[in-house]
Amino acid sequence: MIRIRRTALPPDLADRLRERTGRLRAAGADCAGARAEWKSARAVRVRLTDHLTAMATGIRRCMYCGDGLGTDIDHFEPLAAAPLRAFDWPNHLLACSHCNSHEKRELFPRAADGTPLLVDPSAEDPYDHLELVLSTGVYEALTVRGEATIEVFGLNRPDLVRGRAAAFIRTVCMLRDRARLVRPVGLAEDADAETEAAEIAVSLLDQPFADVLYAMLRYRDLPGAEHVLRGKEVVEALADPALHFWS
Ligand SMILES: [Zn+2]
Repeated sequence: MIRIRRTALPPDLADRLRERTGRLRAAGADCAGARAEWKSARAVRVRLTDHLTAMATGIRRCMYCGDGLGTDIDHFEPLAAAPLRAFDWPNHLLACSHCNSHEKRELFPRAADGTPLLVDPSAEDPYDHLELVLSTGVYEALTVRGEATIEVFGLNRPDLVRGRAAAFIRTVCMLRDRARLVRPVGLAEDADAETEAAEIAVSLLDQPFADVLYAMLRYRDLPGAEHVLRGKEVVEALADPALHFWS
């Protein structure tokens, strides 16, 4: 899970969301009413999906697992708990159908004082609560909220763990390849090498499990980074501003 930057909606779409919310409020809508209104708003949903897709990392990746294709709009705070938030833009995230329908579902745990426990990647940095162990692909919790987030989203399900571990090896190889193409200052320019280096940068961002690169960028300044990131060459490659997608 990585930080997602939420963009503003165009005024006409924001107005349509407000209208729909007003309608729900006037009707005193419960969960069933909110679902029916949401279902009827096909054109709004299509436009929201387009905006979420543009915000998502890589090729329309799920904002929770970073692997599956983001096909569903998830209500972060479920309609069962907050029917009036059906058309609330900050409550919309792009999820794959597995995360939406088989992991998170209607779950929305709260602390004893009522504070939501799940980390919203569009509102805060998940890495304040989660740590990715690159060599194994396993997420470890740094906080109680991290623990709930791992549990509810199933972030350590075996296919994701295996996928992240493989993505780490792949990312290390790509960074080493790219470093060989980036010309040191002072050497003659090589247009083909520059093009290839730029292509590798794009594909690093487009591959599933971008959270692996996200974690590597965060670890590069920490003590022992050379060991964790498989060598000085990789640490140096990560210093390239062209790869600092989330700065
Ligand atoms: Zn997912």
